Amino acid sequence: KEFRNNVKPNWCPGCGDFTVQASIQRAAANVGLEPEQLAVISGIGCSGRISGYINAYGLHGIHGRALPIAQGVKLANRELTVIASGGDGDGFAIGMGHTVHAIRRNLDITYIVMDNQIYGLTKGQTSPRSAEGFKTKSTPEGSIETTLSPLEIALSAGATFVAQSFSSDLKQLTSLIEQAIQHKGFSLINVFSPCVTFNKVNTYDWFKENIVNLEQFPEYDPSNRIAAMTKIMETNGMLTGLIYQDTTRKSYEDLAAGFKPEALAKQDLTLPEAEFDKLLAEFR
Ligand code: SF4
Repeated sequence: KEFRNNVKPNWCPGCGDFTVQASIQRAAANVGLEPEQLAVISGIGCSGRISGYINAYGLHGIHGRALPIAQGVKLANRELTVIASGGDGDGFAIGMGHTVHAIRRNLDITYIVMDNQIYGLTKGQTSPRSAEGFKTKSTPEGSIETTLSPLEIALSAGATFVAQSFSSDLKQLTSLIEQAIQHKGFSLINVFSPCVTFNKVNTYDWFKENIVNLEQFPEYDPSNRIAAMTKIMETNGMLTGLIYQDTTRKSYEDLAAGFKPEALAKQDLTLPEAEFDKLLAEFR
């Protein structure tokens, strides 16, 4: 169960994405997966490199399209554990349409967003997660757009698993990824993952000061959707932990199995020789 490979990540020293990589590797081992049972599909951005740094099936996809690819992989082979990952620009800007529909479709996929509130790979532009007033080379006078709230959007879209964590909390993040993998449906984990090179506002210290850990509220019930939405709004989206889980709704592939019992990868696609010759004859 060795999910480490010998590829050295080329993230900047101190980048939050290192902990996300380690958490995925630990969680996959802790739930008893073998490398050939896991596929990690990523988008474009610094975080998109993660699929190459984990010893499993992997595909470094195209910008904003990790989820369509991941859904295709899952539908073709339902036995694979599929993790999709990318940054906040990838998933909440260009890929937002896919994110919302993947959430409501509820395939059994874990989606991990490395949210650094900036575009790191292209050297520091404002992202949908940047705060109002945030100054970058793309908003030199400060952003005049409101900040997108992925947790509220996920709940509104019918999410069955919503969590948030911080890349300095390896224990919590690993546990949440384990729970997400074991959840039968779509899981969104938004991870505060600081970009130490370009985001000098949302730093490790800033997150430590502003994060509200749900462990502070022992009475909190993650099965209560209204309570989850209320808590997100009360904390301005800064809470961490398992925010919401609905275990009653069936996953897309379980529902689809009613009329398509065999996934594509399990279907016998070989043709008897005579039928193959007949088919070829039609094209001659
Ligand atoms: Fe990480 Fe930022 Fe460096 Fe990209 S630019 S590797 S997000 S620290």
